[in-house]
Amino acid sequence: EWCERKADSKSEKIRKYAYWGVYLFVAIPLPGTGAWMGALIAALLNMDPKKTFPVIAIGVLTAGIIVSVLSFGVLGAIIYKEKNMAERISTPSRTKEIIEANRFAFKKNFGQNFLIDSNILDNIASCAGVTKDDCVLEIGPGIGSLAQVLAENARQVVAVEIDNTLIPILKQTLADYDNVTILNQDILKTDIDAIIQEKNDGRNIKVVANLPYYITTPIIMDLLENERHVDSITVMVQKEVAERINAKPGTKDYGALSLAVQYYAEPYLVANVPPNCFMPRPNVGSAVIRLTVHEKPPATVRDESLMFRLIRASFNQRRKTLANGLNNSPELHYSKEQIAEAIEKLGTSPSIRGEALTLEEFARLSDILLELEGK
Ligand code: SAM
Repeated sequence: EWCERKADSKSEKIRKYAYWGVYLFVAIPLPGTGAWMGALIAALLNMDPKKTFPVIAIGVLTAGIIVSVLSFGVLGAIIYKEKNMAERISTPSRTKEIIEANRFAFKKNFGQNFLIDSNILDNIASCAGVTKDDCVLEIGPGIGSLAQVLAENARQVVAVEIDNTLIPILKQTLADYDNVTILNQDILKTDIDAIIQEKNDGRNIKVVANLPYYITTPIIMDLLENERHVDSITVMVQKEVAERINAKPGTKDYGALSLAVQYYAEPYLVANVPPNCFMPRPNVGSAVIRLTVHEKPPATVRDESLMFRLIRASFNQRRKTLANGLNNSPELHYSKEQIAEAIEKLGTSPSIRGEALTLEEFARLSDILLELEGK
C-alpha cells in the first residue's frame, strides 16, 4: 500500500541479501582455494611431497585468517550500526514510559492520538520524499515520535506544538537532534511565511504531520490558498476526509473540498492506517494523504473567488440541479436567465447536478458568467 517506500524497503532487502551472498560466496570456498593454491605452489616448485603438506596448511591458514578478519569486520559494522540507531520514541513501550514518567495526560480537545508504529512513521517520511536537503514543518509533534524520524531524514525540522505541557517532554526526547526547532504555538496563529523565510531562506519547505483532526481543513486550506512556499503536504487525516480530498467527479465523496484542494495540489492517497497504530486509539479510521502542490493550477480561471463561490453554491444543496443551487445561493447575484444561459453555453444539460462538473467546467462556467456580466 505504501507508495515508493515499499519499493525502497524491498530493494533494501535485496541489497542486504546480496551483501550476505557475496560474503558467503567468498568466505566458504576461501579455505579450499587456499589449499589448492598451496598445492599448486608446491607442484610448481617441484617440492618434495613430504614438504607439500605444510605449504597446503599455510594456504588454508592464510585463507582462514582472511575469513576471520572479514567476519569480524562484518560483525563489527552490524554492531556499530545498531548502536548508532537511536531508540525509537514511537514503540508502544517507550511511548508509555515517556507518558508515565512525565505524568502526561492526553487532551482530547487537542486531538492527541500519538503514533506508536515505527514502520508507519518511516513510511510517512519516505512517502513525503524527505531528504537531507529539506526543511520540514511538522504540525503537532506530540512527544516527538514523527519529529525524531524527520530529524534523522531532513536537514532542518520546525515542530509547532500548541500544548505547553509537551514542550519539556519534547526537549528531552529530541535532545540529541540539533536540527529540530520546537515552537510552542498554535499553528493556526503561526506566521508560517516567517518560519520559511528564517529557516529556509524563503525556499519551498515540506509539511509533514499526524494532524489533530479538528484543524485538518483550515490548516490544509491555509497552506494552499495563501500559496505558502510549500512543495508538498503529507499528512495523517481522518480516512473519510482523505477520501473526500481525493474524490473524482460524480462520486459520493466529491465535493467542495475535493475541488478546492485539487485546484492547488495533486492528491495521492498513500495508505489507510488502523486505530491500533495510535495511543490512545481514535474512534475513526485514518489515512495518510500526500498533496503535491501544483506549480500552476490545472484550470485557468479569471476570477478564482467567483469559481469557488459557484462550487460552494453547487454543493450546498447536493440534491438540487446546478441551476437551482446557483439560483438559491446567497453568495451569488445572477438572474435565473443569466444562470440558464451560462449553463447552456457550458454545453451541459440544464438538469445537470453540480457534483458531475469537473474543475475545468467550474472554471469555464465562472468565466462565462463574467462574460455575461460584460466583465
Ligand atoms: N506527531 C505526534 C504523533 O504522530 O505521535 C502527535 C500527533 S497528535 C494526532 C496531534 C498533535 O497536535 C498533538 O500533540 C496536539 O497537542 C497538537 N496540536 C493540536 N492542535 C494544535 C494546534 N492548533 N497547533 C499546533 N499543534 C496542535
